[in-house]
Amino acid sequence: MEEVKRLAEPVSQIYQALTPEVPLYLHVIRGDDCAAIIDGGMPNSSEYINRLLERTGVGRSDKPLQYLLNTHGHHDHIGNFPRLKKEHGALVVTVEDAVPWIEDTERNLREFALHHPHIIGDGPDLRAELEPTYSEGVRVDLTLTEGSTVRLGGGIEIEAISLPGHLEAELGWFERHTKMLVLGDAVIGIDWPIFHGHAKPAVLRQSLRKLRSFVADRDVTSVAMSHYHARGADEFLELVEEVLTFIDRTEQVIREQIGRRPVTLEQVWQGTCKAMGKAPEFRSLMMVDAHIHEFLHAYEIERVGPETYQRIG
Ligand SMILES: [Zn+2]
Repeated sequence: MEEVKRLAEPVSQIYQALTPEVPLYLHVIRGDDCAAIIDGGMPNSSEYINRLLERTGVGRSDKPLQYLLNTHGHHDHIGNFPRLKKEHGALVVTVEDAVPWIEDTERNLREFALHHPHIIGDGPDLRAELEPTYSEGVRVDLTLTEGSTVRLGGGIEIEAISLPGHLEAELGWFERHTKMLVLGDAVIGIDWPIFHGHAKPAVLRQSLRKLRSFVADRDVTSVAMSHYHARGADEFLELVEEVLTFIDRTEQVIREQIGRRPVTLEQVWQGTCKAMGKAPEFRSLMMVDAHIHEFLHAYEIERVGPETYQRIG
């Protein structure tokens, strides 16, 4: 197992390979009085989280784990919350929109993976793939909005920043003392064998531009993320540009799938995945549907039947 890495005095990280291509980084922030974990990984992240806490002395009587700060409701960000809440009496803190998914696992799985059940249906294969990635639901203690802060003592203050678009709602966490940002999935993975996915393309673009200004305005020193290695501000800004370019390219490929003859959502989705060399699955199905809705609103395409579209003009 990887060693715990100290990114800045109060911020430490451990790495877990979710798959050979998809990394997961887990973070703990320590103040003088108490500590917080940013996101809870997958159920199988538990030994990584234990090591992270152990090596940083978090969870002992002089450094209680007080907060489980969540970025968003995806299964790989909430996995150990029930256990950590039980063991440490820590408070689950998230954004309002993430509450139903964190409290209700079955609803989370259904809305995450089974949003178009006639295309990707429920069944033993999907259940066997996904159920082990979910822990039981857990009650949320506190919801925060942009600008709210969590104080850990000794001047360590973590400020919430709203970064929707990958999901309907997402928070990033900015540690004011070290000027370090800890993000979830606002900076989406772009070089995976699957599309990481986004629920609101235009909103995600706005969040990425907001991050660009935030880094400049708040003098951010470094940025840690759930699925990319931590990096300094300049290297982070380059990554943000790459992700914006990737979203543009994805949008263009989706657009090219819709011509003057009617095509179905399923055809557009399959064609997009093929053209971009990604394995088709539920994340990209939702993403393609989201882009189609933006094309509809822009009057680029029209709906000519159930989930069937064609280019206008
Ligand atoms: Zn996510």
